[in-house]
Amino acid sequence: MEFRDLKKQYQVLKKEIDAGVLDVMASGAFILGKPVKELEEKLAAYTGRKHCVAVANGTDALQLSLMAYDIGPGDAVFTSDFTYFASAGSASILGATPVLVDIDLATFNMSAADLERRIRAVLEEGKLKPKFIVPVDLFGLPADFTHILPIAEKYGLRILEDGAQGFGGAINGKRACSFGDISTTSFFPAKPLGCYGDGGAIFTDDDEIDARLRSLRAQGKSPEDKYDNREIGMNSRLDTLQAAVLLPKLKAFEDYEVDAVNKVADAYTAALKDKVVTPHIPDGFLSSWAQYTILLEDRQQRDRVQKAMKEKGIPTMVYYPRGLHQQAAYKWMGLKDEDYPNTVRATNCVLSLPMHPYLEEADQNYIIEKLLEVL
Ligand SMILES: *Cc1c(COP(=O)(O)O)cnc(C)c1O
Repeated sequence: MEFRDLKKQYQVLKKEIDAGVLDVMASGAFILGKPVKELEEKLAAYTGRKHCVAVANGTDALQLSLMAYDIGPGDAVFTSDFTYFASAGSASILGATPVLVDIDLATFNMSAADLERRIRAVLEEGKLKPKFIVPVDLFGLPADFTHILPIAEKYGLRILEDGAQGFGGAINGKRACSFGDISTTSFFPAKPLGCYGDGGAIFTDDDEIDARLRSLRAQGKSPEDKYDNREIGMNSRLDTLQAAVLLPKLKAFEDYEVDAVNKVADAYTAALKDKVVTPHIPDGFLSSWAQYTILLEDRQQRDRVQKAMKEKGIPTMVYYPRGLHQQAAYKWMGLKDEDYPNTVRATNCVLSLPMHPYLEEADQNYIIEKLLEVL
């Protein structure tokens, strides 16, 4: 059994994917070929944004977004403490300072109350200028935008939605990657919509930001003359081959994959909810289930369950074993576990179960049966 079965998905979509990839090979247009443009248009339409800019990966997508708003030294960028490193690293690499926010244990997403507390603390200290909030749609569930958007407005901050795991989710029908000023996603193979290597995208409704991003992903070239560079940019484009892989995958994602993972999640929750803490999906929210993550009692029980499941041939994962405040790269900030009680609890107790749109009912039942047995 696989944790996320990409081979099974390929078997189902092989004909379309192979044809698209071979077309690109024959066309010779490997950089920003036609499929990239087609994909950008389809992704913009899917999310409900005006523009989509396809880039090399989800980390670059975050960095380029912050560059497009001139974020740098002296700026504070608020993001979740419980996320993949890039949510904060993308600010650090530009010389800005990430300010880590504790999570809500019910959703694993940024706590709006803790966010406001930390914005006030930065303002009171007066050393950094609060500029951006980077809410993360962790595990496929959109962040708490209902409460975070008003906070951004109140303090005059912009929002960059890190939708690397959230693509396909929604709040009251409004899709992930459409919240705030600018949004990003990742097409890393194991994300809800993955390609066959690295890939990412940026979403915006702002024409000027869109134009600047297109320049920044190509070394800051001017639109009129590509050998006249108007600023320092990156080399970060989505390969045409990856766009060709993504086009049929996006169709399957839209047609049935998001429904399929929601069915798996419903089956897990129905069978497990009385035995462990199962994921909480707030009213009106839709998750695209990048992960199905349960909360066990403590680290000892979590590690024991993971080991026992492995012995029964069931792969599980711990996302994430450490908060960002515990990372060696951020030791200099001197942050304490006491200040991040929910992140610390999550790192000790989370366990993610196999989850993908092609997980058969027999496997679901086996996972449920064995987990209940192990518990
Ligand atoms: C995967 C991920 C990223 C980075 O995406 P890459 O394509 O791997 O660079 C950023 N943020 C979050 C929350 C992620 O899960």
